[in-house]
Amino acid sequence: MSNQPYATAAAGQKEDVDLAVAAATRAFTDGPWPRMKPRQRARVLDQIADAIEAQDARLAELETFDTGLPITQALGQAQRAAENFRFFADLIVAQTDDAYSVPGAQLNYVNRKPVGVAGLITPWNTPFMLESWKLAPALASGCTVVLKPAELTPLSAGLWAQIFRDAGVPDGVFNLVNGLGEEAGDALVKHPDVPLISFTGESSTGQLIFANAAPFLKGLSMELGGKSPAVVFADADLDAAIDSTLFGVFSLNGERCTAGSRILVERAIYDEFLERYAERARNIVVGDPHDPATEVGALVHPEHFEKVMSYVELGKTEGRLLAGGGRPTGLDTGNYVAPTVFADVAPDARIFQEEIFGPVVAITPFDSDDEALALANGVRYGLAAYIWTRDLERAHTFARNVESGMVWLNSHNVRDLRTPFGGVKASGLGHEGGYRSIDFYTHQQAVHITL
Ligand code: NAD
Repeated sequence: MSNQPYATAAAGQKEDVDLAVAAATRAFTDGPWPRMKPRQRARVLDQIADAIEAQDARLAELETFDTGLPITQALGQAQRAAENFRFFADLIVAQTDDAYSVPGAQLNYVNRKPVGVAGLITPWNTPFMLESWKLAPALASGCTVVLKPAELTPLSAGLWAQIFRDAGVPDGVFNLVNGLGEEAGDALVKHPDVPLISFTGESSTGQLIFANAAPFLKGLSMELGGKSPAVVFADADLDAAIDSTLFGVFSLNGERCTAGSRILVERAIYDEFLERYAERARNIVVGDPHDPATEVGALVHPEHFEKVMSYVELGKTEGRLLAGGGRPTGLDTGNYVAPTVFADVAPDARIFQEEIFGPVVAITPFDSDDEALALANGVRYGLAAYIWTRDLERAHTFARNVESGMVWLNSHNVRDLRTPFGGVKASGLGHEGGYRSIDFYTHQQAVHITL
């Protein structure tokens, strides 16, 4: 917020990663964690969830301080982190694995085994919650872990060690190495004793990790960037669509992987939509992230602020500015960007194609379902899509044809944790969520018996 130094975090080097991996390997090879019954591990995971909830106010405070997220939204992230642990605790206890019999001839069953030391690399947006999305299934599966959080937001990750110790996680199961991506992250990716990497971050970083992990044939799960479309048809519930598309790109400061950062609006309602949307955007409260009245806080870092501002300037040449367009009035220092709305943005514009990761939205009109689909699919990303229409057939047809890992019909944000989470095209590799996460962190060995 003030861009003054407020904490010093360790810059872990390869030697630190080696030590962490050695501890995790010992805990995996000799320790009780991978050998516990699912119910025993689930009890520990439930205690972790309780501990997170018990300090949600402190956690939210840290997260707001470190990331610039509005405090009311940071509170929600702590709740979601706790829920991730409860969910995977329930899942491993309920889990069944297949057995197949060929009567009188053969019996076949599946032996599920944790893969080993999981390397977890996470970004700076909603850091604690995204760490929990990896830690919970990795630990539930019986893996031991080395977590490398984002260098820009190391504070909340410091809470994990105490939470895990208090909950009864054995020593060596959880290891944390703070540090830069190209140092600590790189060493983790290239460590021969880490058989799998779960990564969330930019698509370009994902490509580099993919290449660096290739010689080791590591298991990879990649949750990458997005430029998700929100498509508003003329028959939509316009009030709900406006509420949702504002939330979609201006909540979490726009620093949200699933942000609906391109809004495609049917021509018949285009002008009305623009007028109402821009009016609402101009009234969003930007300010001190700690103030409960704040709706958009400060961006995470001055470099990221500069990047977002460069897109704001570019947008003035690529679209029609309807709201924002720079710093909010009265906030002359700090990483504050006024919620910015560009209309009439052409599909080849950079602000239509590239992930900005800030409170900036591009709006484009369309005349037909086919054109809307072509616009929605006309980017390299494919993470989420939001569709607003009262016509169910159109909604389901569009959902089937849109190139995205997730679709929200007349809704946003809320998802059942059993559903797949992930992107297609440049937005990711593999899907997590529900048993898919457990599958990623476990080997499924087939055992065949001749009767
Ligand atoms: P980033 O790619 O810069 O960094 C992510 C993590 O990777 C950090 O911990 C960083 O230190 C590490 N890293 C960087 N270079 C590395 C290397 N060479 N080897 C190993 N690790 C390395 O991403 P960011 O700026 O922190 O996060 C924002 C991005 O994350 C956006 O693109 C956003 O869309 C994406 N994201 C995606 C999802 C999703 O679920 N798809 C969720 C949140 C964020």
